[in-house]
Amino acid sequence: MSLVVVGSMAFDALETPFGKTDKIVGGAATYISLSSSYFVKPVNVVSVVGGDFDQDHIALMHERNISTEGVQVKENEKSFFWSGRYFNDMNSRETLVTELNVLGDFDPIIPDSYQGCEYLMLGNLAPQVQKTVIERLTQKPKLIVMDTMNFWMDIALNELMETLKLVDVLSINDEEARQLSGEYSLVKAAKKIMAMGPKFLIIKKGEHGALLFNEDKVFFAPALPLEEVFDPTGAGDTFAGGFIGYIASTDDISFENMKRAIIYGSAMASFCVEKFGTERLKNLSKEEIENRVQQFVNLVAFDTVLQ
Ligand code: AMP
Repeated sequence: MSLVVVGSMAFDALETPFGKTDKIVGGAATYISLSSSYFVKPVNVVSVVGGDFDQDHIALMHERNISTEGVQVKENEKSFFWSGRYFNDMNSRETLVTELNVLGDFDPIIPDSYQGCEYLMLGNLAPQVQKTVIERLTQKPKLIVMDTMNFWMDIALNELMETLKLVDVLSINDEEARQLSGEYSLVKAAKKIMAMGPKFLIIKKGEHGALLFNEDKVFFAPALPLEEVFDPTGAGDTFAGGFIGYIASTDDISFENMKRAIIYGSAMASFCVEKFGTERLKNLSKEEIENRVQQFVNLVAFDTVLQ
């Protein structure tokens, strides 16, 4: 099954209670493509970078069978730059800097070799660009999953609402769900957001796991209790990559399969936070991933005798 991933490719500068980085490679499409590459091949990326982007990272993507044919290089411009600082609980962060640079006027090009893809993952990016990608695909994918963030709700809400009408699954965090719906209760928020377009809604709650909503159904997946969370950047994107990657590899878009996909997404995210940036996602083995998934199964499995 083929997968197209759209999203930012970036330089990030991060501050956590454990340390600070200068510019390191990040971006939604970076994390999503690395994560999904453990499930499906090839992963076809649509993005844009400046002439300053890290060529070693592009080489790493190729090694992992990630196609960058749809990644435009604007030689004389700068790559997207984002800087964030995490608070002590590591669950919340503040954005310090967002420099759109090449993302400011990004006009996505879909290579012919990407056409006919069955699965589309719209990673965090201007909602208008996400919509353009949907419109430029000649065949409607079986499943369109979208991620977004408060930044776009603040500056491009109308475009975001238009894009939402076209997607099947939306993946956002609890704070974003509250902002988008105006509801504090996540159950009420889910109802309102699903009425905006997506039939399925994933609400990520950081170290408190994730909820999957569809009609009146709801499923909860925990996050793995880890001794040390080093850097949560990209956890949401890595989660999304594992989720769509698992669905594409099984070619099953039922609610039951989405439950499994959420566990795979959570397992991939648990690796991501163990090191700074993309470091931990570069070289995982199938066995490590399966063992992690088993840890999730053990975490929530119990026997009971109803009284
Ligand atoms: P996550 O921690 O999963 O929410 O994603 C973090 C990644 O999102 C970082 O690597 C950033 O480069 C990227 N990012 C931050 N802000 C934006 C934005 N406004 N648009 C697109 N990508 C962004």
